[in-house]
Amino acid sequence: MTMTSPQTTRSGTELAELDRKYLVHPNLHGAISNRCVLVRGQGCRLWDADGTEYLDGTAGLWLVEVGHGREEIAEVAARQMRELAYFTSFWEFSNDKAIALAERLTELAPANLSKIFYTSGGSESNETAIKAARLYHFRRGEPQRRWILSRQFAYHGVGYGSGTATGLDQYHHGFGEGIPEVEHLTVPYPFHEEFYNGQPATDFLIAELEATIERIGAENIAAMIGEPIIGAGGVIVPPDDYWPRVRTVLKKHGILMIADEVVTAFGRTGSWFASPDAGMEPDMISVAKGITSGYVPLGAVLMREDIGEVIAGEDGFHHGFTYYGHPVACATALENIDIIERESLATEAKRKGELLRAELAPLADNPLVGDIRGRGLLAALEFVADPQTRAPFEFPVGEGLADLLRDEYHVIVRELGPVVAMSPPLVITDDQIRRLASAIRDAVGRLRPDGTFEAS
Ligand code: PLP
Repeated sequence: MTMTSPQTTRSGTELAELDRKYLVHPNLHGAISNRCVLVRGQGCRLWDADGTEYLDGTAGLWLVEVGHGREEIAEVAARQMRELAYFTSFWEFSNDKAIALAERLTELAPANLSKIFYTSGGSESNETAIKAARLYHFRRGEPQRRWILSRQFAYHGVGYGSGTATGLDQYHHGFGEGIPEVEHLTVPYPFHEEFYNGQPATDFLIAELEATIERIGAENIAAMIGEPIIGAGGVIVPPDDYWPRVRTVLKKHGILMIADEVVTAFGRTGSWFASPDAGMEPDMISVAKGITSGYVPLGAVLMREDIGEVIAGEDGFHHGFTYYGHPVACATALENIDIIERESLATEAKRKGELLRAELAPLADNPLVGDIRGRGLLAALEFVADPQTRAPFEFPVGEGLADLLRDEYHVIVRELGPVVAMSPPLVITDDQIRRLASAIRDAVGRLRPDGTFEAS
């Protein structure tokens, strides 16, 4: 099928000017003035306002699992808007789609997670999980159990609770104090063995965890939160024994485990959920993003039956967002989940991820490429300034690898410091994977040690 260029009444230049005038963008360096204004998407293809076609190598922000432009989802959402676009689910109100989705989520989740709390996104899911963990202990007679253990390099969102749990420095500058009683542990980062004082990484990390629990006092700790595989911190896959050993320690001390699966759930790593595979045995799972493939905003916390019952106990859970159980979002999620199942997208993510990494493998010979890693359709290249010390490579602002790939190759990837991350829609074709990898191989081949690129 040939795609006609998108219909828009304004040119890319005009839109970029208006964007600069009106929009405050997240995470945009002030020195960058160009804009990439997108107007249409289909599968893994995107078009900007001037009709230039791009290959989507990031699924937006790790989430358009079923690809862009799915008619089935548009139909379901439109039907639901006509039927019942919105009513609250506070108090005793509810709606049929919120109930059906809860039923579906509990069928897919680990068996002990059978209560659902809806949110509008990932930060809200983690705010909810942190508050639920504290309230659970409070209601059970341990009100002092408030500490939350997190990790450096973690990304849990930008609310005051979720943002405090986030372990990336730039999210903490200039906002004053975060919430009290949050501790960041060392990241499990196999590529950076120098972080662990010559010890095997997991031994070091478990010793640190135990010492931290001893220092704070197990009786004061509510929960630990972690992504099974760190996403925005740099697509960091922990050693296989990390989560099972962390779990054992937490269990011994009655500390809850919150798995932040905002990026990893709904097929991206090859399963519906990554945390059971990782050995986390979560008491709660935070989700968002892939639950609707981003067609409309939705998030949720899946929790253990008894946690749900305790927090909803006599006094109720005094916490909730206007869009809790939004009927259009829940109907969309049901259709999205059906597509993921019908098209075996989780199994496909596993196979396609292997193909993508195999296609990227020749880059291992480039001294600036320190590591090629990932799981399923989460993949990353880590660049090093010095292969010996593994000192991070610095791409110049606005002129990095992702900029070059977008502007010259029309391929969208994401730069996270020295890491270049890929997380394409799970419907990406094998040919598109080859095109993505070939563009990256070519662009990396042009990279000079000073961060500039040779002309093509
Ligand atoms: N948790 C993880 C692991 C994420 O990657 C993100 C967003 O990228 C969030 C939480 C926050 O989600 P949101 O941006 O929907 O608030």
